[in-house]
Amino acid sequence: MQPRIPAGMDSEYSRRNFLLGASSVVAAAGLTASANAQQSTSPKPNQQDDVQLSQDHASTEQPEKIPGPFENQSERVGFAVVGLGRLTLGEILPAMGKSKYCKPVALVSGDRDKARKVAAQYGIPDSGLYDYTTYDQLAQNSSVQVIYIVLPNSMHAEFTVRGAKAGKHILCEKPMATSTRDCERMIAACNAANVKLMIAYRSQYEPYDRALVKMIRGGKLGKLKQFVSTNSQNQGDPNQWRQKLALAGGGCMPDVGVYCLNAARFLSDEEPNEVQATIYQPKDDPRFTEVEASCQVIAKFPSGFTAIFNSAYEAHRSQFLRVEGVEAWAELNPAFAYHGIKMRYSFYNQDLKQEIAHEPQLEEKDQFAAEMDHFALCVQKNLRPHTPGEEGLQDQRITDAIYLSARTGKAVRIAPPSGPTRGPEPSEEG
Ligand code: NAD
Repeated sequence: MQPRIPAGMDSEYSRRNFLLGASSVVAAAGLTASANAQQSTSPKPNQQDDVQLSQDHASTEQPEKIPGPFENQSERVGFAVVGLGRLTLGEILPAMGKSKYCKPVALVSGDRDKARKVAAQYGIPDSGLYDYTTYDQLAQNSSVQVIYIVLPNSMHAEFTVRGAKAGKHILCEKPMATSTRDCERMIAACNAANVKLMIAYRSQYEPYDRALVKMIRGGKLGKLKQFVSTNSQNQGDPNQWRQKLALAGGGCMPDVGVYCLNAARFLSDEEPNEVQATIYQPKDDPRFTEVEASCQVIAKFPSGFTAIFNSAYEAHRSQFLRVEGVEAWAELNPAFAYHGIKMRYSFYNQDLKQEIAHEPQLEEKDQFAAEMDHFALCVQKNLRPHTPGEEGLQDQRITDAIYLSARTGKAVRIAPPSGPTRGPEPSEEG
């Protein structure tokens, strides 16, 4: 059966096929020659004039690995998922089945019965179940290579540091943490343990966002001027952790506003050097005794590019972004949903002398599977993730400046990050 070849691998596959084809001719010739030799004389092991198999088929050579989906379960990267809340049950575990390189092998939960039920559903053995106190024993579970942290925001730092000490690579949900100090601790702990750290910015692995990045880098929009975006939703339960400052680190801004902020940064490939912001926290709504209900930001970038974005916990779901260049604009609407992202772009066609709008159709990919596959490949191939800890730290630094501006009513300057915040762009295979 022909191996499945991922997009972009065709030329490599042709080269390999050519080599295999050539060697199989030699090997076939060798078998014929040996058979003839056996008819005429008795077999003599190690005889000098025996036809030798080509180097390609030498028994000491490892079988050539074809990059592509790991059909063999044992080749997939083992994930321990920490926290069995809405995101884990609704998106992350189901996405394991759509991933090419990942498999769930352990669960960490405070609720043993729930963990058992979920484990049975995903074929995870009892020996792969942990709680928050036995979490560190993951160090002894060699089937776990990656820990995916899906806990309330302020718990990300502790579980990243402990996970790194257990010698595991860490994939951590957004927002990375609730303070820059915690982000720095997480990066330092992963560096000290020589494990990788990636922040789960799923949009950066989503096909329309990838296409938009390519359009912008290719100059299709011309010089970028403005970015406008909103990520809003209605938050119901006043008692859930998202409304508690100590667990969430803020309200709508770090939870949903961070998508707008992160998109402005990765689309422009530039860092803001100043923000001006306001937040609104109604006094008479029990949902917002500790955190803001809405946040409005103007972020200025050194090139003159400006990002204006809003987030809200008290408005009907609205999730769009539009990036405007001198030559064209492009928008995603919805931009930050799990499914059904749509793109439009528009430019003035000089030949037709009219504005032309396009709505390209791309194949939808599960964003969580794409993000997890990227990290699994980084682990397998020892590569720097596209969205490492430094990417989350930079969003946190800007979020701190946003809150400072909202408190003081003044624009707040932001020093550039100490180095690049993103690793290489994700490849076609992950
Ligand atoms: P959730 O409330 O549904 O689940 C949180 C889990 O943490 C639950 O299993 C809960 O039992 C556990 N937990 C442990 N200690 C807790 C404590 N002290 N208080 C409350 N819960 C505790 O939350 P969620 O929506 O699954 O969010 C989890 C993380 O994932 C958050 O960091 C959030 O920002 C992130 N998230 C990301 C996306 C995305 O699209 N990437 C979407 C939703 C949530």
